[in-house]
Amino acid sequence: MKCVICNGDEIKVMEVKEEFTLGNDIVYVPIKVPVCKNCGERYYDRRTMQFLEEIKGKLGCTQENLKEIGKVLVYG
Ligand SMILES: [Zn+2]
Repeated sequence: MKCVICNGDEIKVMEVKEEFTLGNDIVYVPIKVPVCKNCGERYYDRRTMQFLEEIKGKLGCTQENLKEIGKVLVYG
């Protein structure tokens, strides 16, 4: 499999943090997806997309499974 963006052939499955915003909060969802080591492009398959959609939907109505690991700060 070659990267469609940079044509590189180093695509490895890695754990990445998908980021969602929830009001002023940011929620990280760790997932494993193939990532191009050259340009960083992520390749989501249908199952991963569905999984993320599901989480996005859940986050709208429940805070279940969330834990605070930091704060989002703004300067000024
Ligand atoms: Zn690439």
